[in-house]
Amino acid sequence: MNNIKEGCMKPKLLNFESESTEIYPVEKFPSKTLEKAVEVFSSLPGVGKKTALRYVLHLLKEDSGTIENFSEVLQNLSNNIQHCKNCFNISDNPVCEVCANPKREQEVICVVQDIRDVLAIESTMQYKGVYHVLGGLISPIDSVGPNDIKINELIHRLQTSNINEVIMALSTTMEGDTTNFYLFKKIKDFPVKITTLARGVAFGDELEYTDEITLARSITNRVPYENTLAR
Ligand SMILES: [Zn+2]
Repeated sequence: MNNIKEGCMKPKLLNFESESTEIYPVEKFPSKTLEKAVEVFSSLPGVGKKTALRYVLHLLKEDSGTIENFSEVLQNLSNNIQHCKNCFNISDNPVCEVCANPKREQEVICVVQDIRDVLAIESTMQYKGVYHVLGGLISPIDSVGPNDIKINELIHRLQTSNINEVIMALSTTMEGDTTNFYLFKKIKDFPVKITTLARGVAFGDELEYTDEITLARSITNRVPYENTLAR
């Protein structure tokens, strides 16, 4: 109650936050607009209804400029973000900054699951090639097959560009290994070196959670993929 200013126009909303949910159960909102906002926020991963409500009430307490800024940023996400037409990295332009950079080795492609892996590898500052973002991994259990991710687009790049090396930098999970093996079968007849990360990355590791030094060493000391098949 002590955070309610006298004369505040929304005492009930603030009450809602500071009092227990027994007064207003989370399921029963005093406003449809509030309810809709909570519903949208709680659709985010890891955000339950109570946290969503806390976010919305926090925004309500901010000045209108803050909410407008949020709304503009979200609108821009929808309108301005696109996928690079070469590598499917997220970009503000048709070709991403990595692909457009003449200092990057365009003949070396690092294949990753998603944008978070690009960010993890870029943060090591050890990799000078370009990327290919698959947008997922083959996972029969989730009904994700080879045609649901950007494998054909990678093969098209191998057919149409001068590529020397493909580094398969997928997570060492069952889905990662399945995708690696499928990719290897698809590209092994191209005149390219096929390598994979050195096994500093333990089995079951997600690339994005690997520390920078381990990841940097794994990418620098990458090994021919075929060697890993002989295990
Ligand atoms: Zn790109």
